[in-house]
Amino acid sequence: MSADHAADHGQIIPPGGTIGILGGGQLGRMAAMAAARLGYRCHIYCPDEGAPASDVAAATTVAAYDDLHALERFARAVDVVTFEFENVPAEATEKLAALKPTRPAPRVLHLTQQRLREKNFLTAINVPTTRYLEVAHKEALPQAVQALGRPCVLKSASFGYDGKGQVRIDPETDLGSVWKAMGSELAILEAFVDFQREISVVIARGVDGAMELYVPVENQHRHHILDTTIAPARISAATAQKAEAIARHIAQEIKLVGLLGVEMFVTKAGDVLVNELAPRPHNSGHWTIDACLTSQFEQFIRAVCGLPLGSPERHSDAVMKNLLGDDVSHWKQILSEPGAKLHLYGKAEARSGRKMGHVTRLSPKTN
Ligand code: AMP
Repeated sequence: MSADHAADHGQIIPPGGTIGILGGGQLGRMAAMAAARLGYRCHIYCPDEGAPASDVAAATTVAAYDDLHALERFARAVDVVTFEFENVPAEATEKLAALKPTRPAPRVLHLTQQRLREKNFLTAINVPTTRYLEVAHKEALPQAVQALGRPCVLKSASFGYDGKGQVRIDPETDLGSVWKAMGSELAILEAFVDFQREISVVIARGVDGAMELYVPVENQHRHHILDTTIAPARISAATAQKAEAIARHIAQEIKLVGLLGVEMFVTKAGDVLVNELAPRPHNSGHWTIDACLTSQFEQFIRAVCGLPLGSPERHSDAVMKNLLGDDVSHWKQILSEPGAKLHLYGKAEARSGRKMGHVTRLSPKTN
């Protein structure tokens, strides 16, 4: 059994129960929609009024992630706690986990909140990653750059997502200015991977240890933000098997209960290196809503509530494109396209680079 906190005995939360979700973004919104279809209510906890997930949830608590009193009231109002946003203070997750089953466990969040911790964990369980070094202060940077060679990438150790807090160091880059640009106390320096493709695997693991995973997909980024996901990835069967085996190994070793997105690089030599883990529904899994028997959001709800996992079988191939900022103004055109499925997140303001929705274009399954 994977439970490791007082309140979690691996219990099942049957339909009719209330799922508490920390975070109010589009991931929470799509999870709440999947939960409703299975007869659950969702209670969102987030710091902002009018969050995308609140529109489709039974209740919302608007409070800061470190408001321990509000967190306690929230925990008492729900049957199980999960996350769509993982940068919640460790103290807060411990508080929640002492009161209600919290899935994934705080330990998983703690590991994945910080890049160094995450990479050290991956190394300890023999999962290949790019070469990396800890850089604890500005003065240590030149030596680390020398050790890994240029180009390399300096990333803030904490709270990194969508490429924020990272700077590429090229042969001509002045090291004096990159530390400031990265903007953090503690950093990780990574060798630059001249990858052939970026891929990801979304895997679910239930309270009983059963696992189901979606076919590896290919991700194309623009300005460090996911732009397009191609399902399935255009990789060999051997590479796909390697990626799937890595995802299974991580899910098992981390004792996951819930969903995990595993982002990987495929090198030109065909090696698979893990870049990052996200213990929640993943943007590269949105295509599953329209192209698989069980979407990643339904799978997430099933795993978190202790239900049997669903079949991740793909009935169509798919290309998912994020609608960022003004892209969303093309909604009418997309709606009139055959084979295109439009998903909008109900966000009022189309700021540049903001994830406003996505479109999944389906085609007949090839293999
Ligand atoms: P991350 O925030 O670590 O997910 O990085 C965002 C994106 O930056 C990745 O999806 C890659 O496209 C690129 N990237 C990050 N780290 C590296 C690296 N070590 N080598 C090459 N590209 C990288």
